[in-house]
Amino acid sequence: MTSKEIRSQFLNFYKEKDHKIVPSAPMVIKDDPTLMFTNAGMNQFKEFFLGNSIPKSPRAVDTQKCLRVSGKHNDLEEVGKDTYHHTMFEMLGNWSFGDYFKPEAISWAWELLTEVLKIDKDCLYVSVFEGSKDADNLSLDTEAFDLWKAIVPEDRIILGNKKDNFWEMGDQGPCGPCSEIHADIRSAEEKAKVSGASLVNADHPQVVEIWNLVFMQYNRKADGSLEPLPAKHVDTGMGFERLCMVLQNVQSNYETDVFKPIIREIEAITHSKYGKNEETDIAIRVIADHIRAVSFSIADGQLPSNTGAGYVIRRILRRAVRYGFTFLNTKEPFMYRLVSVLTENMGDAFPELKEQRQLIENVIKEEEHSFLKTLDQGLVLLDQIIANAKGKEVNGRKAFELYDTYGFPIDLTALILSEKGLSLDEKGFEEAMQEQKNRSKSASEISKDDWEVLSGDLEQEFVGYDALEANVKLV
Ligand code: ATP
Ligand code: MG
Ligand code: MG
Ligand code: MG
Repeated sequence: MTSKEIRSQFLNFYKEKDHKIVPSAPMVIKDDPTLMFTNAGMNQFKEFFLGNSIPKSPRAVDTQKCLRVSGKHNDLEEVGKDTYHHTMFEMLGNWSFGDYFKPEAISWAWELLTEVLKIDKDCLYVSVFEGSKDADNLSLDTEAFDLWKAIVPEDRIILGNKKDNFWEMGDQGPCGPCSEIHADIRSAEEKAKVSGASLVNADHPQVVEIWNLVFMQYNRKADGSLEPLPAKHVDTGMGFERLCMVLQNVQSNYETDVFKPIIREIEAITHSKYGKNEETDIAIRVIADHIRAVSFSIADGQLPSNTGAGYVIRRILRRAVRYGFTFLNTKEPFMYRLVSVLTENMGDAFPELKEQRQLIENVIKEEEHSFLKTLDQGLVLLDQIIANAKGKEVNGRKAFELYDTYGFPIDLTALILSEKGLSLDEKGFEEAMQEQKNRSKSASEISKDDWEVLSGDLEQEFVGYDALEANVKLV
């Protein structure tokens, strides 16, 4: 089954069950000061769940463009290294706004996966909220447990804790238990390597969560206590690329027809080969992933820039350019040449790509060009720093200057140094970084970029992105 067929099968299945097919909301959010990018299908329906507005149809289905590179959901570091977390991905979802609840949500999900899409039942596991002994004092979600027990053998039902199986919108508002569906597509040989039965969260690239069914049944009040919601809601999210991996019988999202054409194009442009060497593979995956994030963002009207969402996009693009520069030896702009294959592949489902194609190519090409110039200049400056180094360790504050003032990536500095048998004074670098962070913290209002974390987790503030990026090792 092609990815196009999978997408339409999903939408049509729920359409036949009286769901209204709605368009994806933009991936870049312009009117919510607390959220920069859509990170889940339910974002656009927030007001319905809060009871602030009433939907025209009590059931909806869609595929939502999501980006998880900031705030509570920041998967950037995994991208490329693993084979199933992306920056930009499609989240398939079906919703009930005060309409159907657990029985329908569970049985339809199962029917779709096993009867319509014909996934082998033996590779599926489900999880159910086990309850919590904290102040909430919640018991096992027996409703979900019993519904699953009627469908799957009991040893395929895994009990999960609050972290994995209880969803909250924020420190107040709708919340409730969730049930996840995981697919274990390891080969028999792989399974034999692990003793015992198959495990959910086995930390294996072929054991992945594909679908999350959230049952909003409580409201968390300002005093922290829970009360039952008068109208209960269903919110589900399924990773489209992961579903394609399972259905197309491949081992990685990057081997599906969602990514394959892009990877083939990268191979052709950079004269590289995917699947031969882990370092090259990571670089190719990063590029194949990031071109989507950047292109969809520009199509949404968010160009790379020096602030806010634009800055996040600029960093993503630069990250890809850097991987190409370092591991695929790309010294000329090349990312923009991937836009046509992406558009061919996804332009029917997301016409904005077709409409904005020329702009996307021009913007990416220009960004690449100027960043490559920065890299060139940085290399000259780095040579000077190296020439002035006393001993084998290179001054961390100087490296920070190169990073901070010239935008020269610190991981590239570290890599070049190690190639020359030198090392970086990491302590000096960290100190300079900390001082700079302190300066920007006091200078600017903390920007919250994910309304799911309005509880005020300071780790999530935007300045952390820089710090994170600086700490990322290339491989
Ligand atoms: P994971 O545990 O794999 O990080 P999650 O629990 O963070 O996933 P949810 O917030 O439950 O994910 O989102 C619903 C679904 O979206 C997941 O079941 C998964 O299939 C998919 N998904 C989540 N994050 C990503 C990502 N970064 N790239 C691709 N698909 C994703
Ligand atoms: Mg996650
Ligand atoms: Mg999870
Ligand atoms: Mg989940």
